[in-house]
Parts: sequence; structure tokens; C-alpha cells
Amino acid sequence: MNSPQDPSPAELEQAIRNVPDFPKPGIQFKDITPLLGNARLFAATVDRLIAGHPPGSIHAVAGIDARGFLFASAAALKLGAGCVPIRKRGKLPYRTLEESYELEYDSNTIAIHADAVPEGSRVLLIDDLLATGGTARAAANLLRRLGAEVVEIVFLIELTALEGRAKLEGYPVRSLIRF
Ligand code: AMP
Repeated sequence: MNSPQDPSPAELEQAIRNVPDFPKPGIQFKDITPLLGNARLFAATVDRLIAGHPPGSIHAVAGIDARGFLFASAAALKLGAGCVPIRKRGKLPYRTLEESYELEYDSNTIAIHADAVPEGSRVLLIDDLLATGGTARAAANLLRRLGAEVVEIVFLIELTALEGRAKLEGYPVRSLIRF
């Protein structure tokens, strides 16, 4: 039985709003702002994202642009770890490494600072949602190119029908809510 302090997966799920046809027709956007705005649910989400990783066991938490940042920074504070932003191309000011990946009708490029983590760092990678897996795969590639160990990739939401996990083969992957 969950105490009021300890929300059930169903309660987290109910705090995620479906917005049809955003940002374009045919996409059902998973809006996490109701969850973020609820102190108890936000805290429980961060605790669950870092579950299994004791403070001191992770050197850095990397978050993916942009909603991943919201969880990665909170997680980093709790773990006593650094926080690393993985951003869309053109946003990071210093020298970067880039990775491109294909979308349905397009391609996307993300970047990390070349000195974001020292070689051999243990990094936890966080994003809000796993869809096709292209973004997370590219992010993990960037960390690997810097010589980091991606200890786990964690998501608040996984859209299972899109089989994004297949793209992340070789990495431990965990999600808190699956649709
Ligand atoms: P993908 O590379 O296909 O796994 O897409 C994952 C990225 O796109 C994440 O950073 C998500 O925030 C965003 N994303 C993809 N689909 C959705 C969706 N239905 N609702 C909200 N965000 C999404």
C-alpha cells in the first residue's frame, strides 16, 4: 500500500496530460507540467529516477534538452553529482561534439561540451520521455565519445509501441511510466 507521501504509478500517470495535435497534427504530446507543478509528485519522480544509485556513486547526471534538464539538475543535487546539459545544436557556447540522428521526415543534431565530463566518469542519463530512442541513443553516443560510462538511461515516460528500447541496446534502460 502506498502512503500519501509515496504516490502510486497510477497517480504519476494521472499527472501527465495528453495534448492532442501538439506541436503538430497527429502527435499526442505528453505534457508533464501538472506533475512538475505538484511538489510531492515531482519529488517522488526524482527519487524514483535515481533509485539504485546511492549518493557518491555517480559523477554526473546528463539531461537532454529541454525537459530532461528539469529532472537532471534535481537528480544531480540529490546524488552529489555534477549536471551536464546535452543540447540542441548551436546552443552550447564552447567547443562541442555533435551527433545527428534521423527523424521520420527530418534529422536532428544534439551537442555536448567537449570537456563536459572527464574520461572514465560514471554518468546517469535522464530524459522525460522515450519515443523512438533516437535522441537518447545520440546522447549516449556523445557521452561514450567523451570516454564516460553511461551507467543507466532513465525516463519518466516510455511510449512502448515505438520500441525505442531497441535503439538503446547495450545500455541499462529504465522508465517509470509506460504508455
Ligand atoms: P525520440 O528521439 O523519438 O525518442 O524522442 C524523444 C524526445 O522527443 C524527448 O526529448 C521527448 O521530450 C520528445 N518527445 C517525443 N515524443 C513526445 C511526445 N509524444 N510527447 C512529449 N515529448 C515527446
